[in-house]
Amino acid sequence: MATIIDGKAVAAKVRSEVASEVAKLSQAGKRIPCLAVILAGDNKASEVYVRNKKKDCAEVGFVSREIDFDNDVTESELLKTIAELNADDGVDGILCQLPLPKGIDENTVLRAIDPCKDVDAFHPYSAGLIMQGQPEFLPCTPAGIMRLLDEYAIDVIGKECVIIGRSNIVGKPMAQLLIARSATVTVCHTKTSDLAFHTKRADVIIAAAGKAGLVSGDMIKDGAVVIDVGMNRDANGALCGDCDYESCAQKASFITPVPGGVGPMTRAMLLINTMTAYNKH
Ligand code: NAD
Repeated sequence: MATIIDGKAVAAKVRSEVASEVAKLSQAGKRIPCLAVILAGDNKASEVYVRNKKKDCAEVGFVSREIDFDNDVTESELLKTIAELNADDGVDGILCQLPLPKGIDENTVLRAIDPCKDVDAFHPYSAGLIMQGQPEFLPCTPAGIMRLLDEYAIDVIGKECVIIGRSNIVGKPMAQLLIARSATVTVCHTKTSDLAFHTKRADVIIAAAGKAGLVSGDMIKDGAVVIDVGMNRDANGALCGDCDYESCAQKASFITPVPGGVGPMTRAMLLINTMTAYNKH
């Protein structure tokens, strides 16, 4: 039976590390780090994410600012707000919660964020630095996964790592971080002809497809490390990942549960990035 990778516990550890840094700043009478979050539109899931981000900021002692817009916000209004936040010395990190309302070009908005305040690391400048192995900010989900691997002393050097998914947010940067750690990386996607061929030879599987039950125990080898990024709803409406937990846990050496695995780490790494932005600032 696999060891369960406890993302909740590691995320709590990260938060307490950040909180102690903030406490030191506060004792020294210094300015406190500030994260600004832009929420545009009335997406219920986004509202929950933003609420959680504010809760995390409050827990570690950060200042957080939320700037809300209705569904009918224009691109130029968003760009104006971002320009103001870029110029504001009291703001260390800027995050624009995705998805944006229809008609707004996500790339234009993300590119408007000052790369020095790009705590989501979605700006092409951040992505370019990651590709060159000199990151300033790491995208939160892949960074959280790397931290989980480190916490559980899972060495990826020379290992066959198979990533399912090639998004800019998870799959591609994940591949870059693993390459930088000297793993041998395969990236699978919707056009991959035989997914099981790849997963069966993987030492580490990172599933980020958003398809419940995509990876079953018969698709992995004994002792594989299974990192499940997926966030889906099963037939009963319960949160589940991309991997069939029961059958994969029988064969894996380590596995992340959903919920309680990668998700809490994504939130925790945003705090690390905000602290990094503050220290650079
Ligand atoms: P996305 O839709 O942008 O990308 C999904 C990727 O998976 C695509 O590249 C696609 O080619 C690939 N894919 C889809 N179906 C596939 C299949 N049957 N076989 C092989 N490849 C397939 O999604 P994303 O933003 O990268 O997120 C992926 C999943 O991870 C979603 O469930 C999302 O909710 C979740 N997610 C979780 C966290 C977290 O913190 N836990 C963070 C980000 C995303």
